[in-house]
Amino acid sequence: MKVVLQNLTKIFPSRDKKAGKEVVAVNDFTFEIPDGKLIGLLGPSGCGKSTTLYMISGLQKPTGGKIFFGDDDVTELSTENRGIGLVFQNYALYPHMTVKQNILFPLQNLKGADKLDKDTMLERAYEVARLVQIDELMDRKPSELSGGQQQRVAIARALVKMPRVLLLDEPLSNLDARLRLQTREEIRRIQKETGITTVFVTHDQEEAMSISDMIVVMKLGVVQQIGEPQEVYDNPINLFVAKFLGTPPINVLGGRVEGGRLFIGEDMVMEVTGVADQPVVVGIRPEGFELDDNGPLCCTLKNVEVMGRDVSIVSSHAASLNPQIRSIINADHRVDTSAETVRFSLKPHKVFLFDAGTEARIPYEVK
Ligand code: ATP
Repeated sequence: MKVVLQNLTKIFPSRDKKAGKEVVAVNDFTFEIPDGKLIGLLGPSGCGKSTTLYMISGLQKPTGGKIFFGDDDVTELSTENRGIGLVFQNYALYPHMTVKQNILFPLQNLKGADKLDKDTMLERAYEVARLVQIDELMDRKPSELSGGQQQRVAIARALVKMPRVLLLDEPLSNLDARLRLQTREEIRRIQKETGITTVFVTHDQEEAMSISDMIVVMKLGVVQQIGEPQEVYDNPINLFVAKFLGTPPINVLGGRVEGGRLFIGEDMVMEVTGVADQPVVVGIRPEGFELDDNGPLCCTLKNVEVMGRDVSIVSSHAASLNPQIRSIINADHRVDTSAETVRFSLKPHKVFLFDAGTEARIPYEVK
């Protein structure tokens, strides 16, 4: 089922009518979520991710715009009638019920034509329990489960009504690092097996990049960029998106373009054909550096961290807008840790230029 968001807007009125300003939590969001895809809504705290999800779920009413599930306009439809499955950060299971009773609960509340007989309900409950691999735990209470198992029960409960759309709001936040990784792979598997169109809200870019078919990066209620994770990483539309994606984060330096050449401080680091002379902000991905004794970018060496497969070189440069520059180099390269400086050449497709005022990306050609 495709989900269409059409000029979706949510404005929260100010609580203090005299002093406060209204909050535009989501501003004119238009997007067609393709059928059967998993979409990651991504952005820093307060950017409007949860509000977008709540509007899709019907828990919040849009101030403007429309929401369609397939061809159905669901904008005015109540949450119960939208055919959605919702999973929140806190699993919100009923503590006095067993896993089985928790999963059966949404089915027992079906009314009228949707009402199911007991055997069908049980069959459905076991089917989703097997899908999320908790069918062995059906007689336990939530307190007798690990966090990851509880979250799977919550997912099973959301799936048991066979929703048209699955909505997940930071579903992994309460899990420890290892369980997070495992559960996110589980969510991806379950989503692929069921083919349910899914919207996944997270502030963790790595999480969103790893499981989403497409990501939507938001800032202050405004969508910045939508695309496949790798595409957005490789072609960020502005400095905000470039900085938001990637660990370690992109290195940001002040620079200038003169006569088709990019300067960082006094170092002429690259030819950038087609860019007018101007001051620029330069973003260099950590993997965009190459150790090169004759390289044009000269940095002060601070530290070398060996991380097994890779070596992380921490250095500094007067033009850097961050206290340090972090570059990731293949561990096959030997770094002279006693040296005071380190020289790099740059991989052009890992270097982005941004307008020093608007922070929009400036395209350039590599000769
Ligand atoms: P987080 O990751 O912290 O949950 P988010 O990206 O999900 O953040 P939202 O919860 O959607 O952000 O909030 C977006 C903006 O709307 C924020 O500025 C928030 O303070 C504001 N907001 C959210 N709910 C309300 C409300 N009920 N009344 C007033 N303002 C609200």
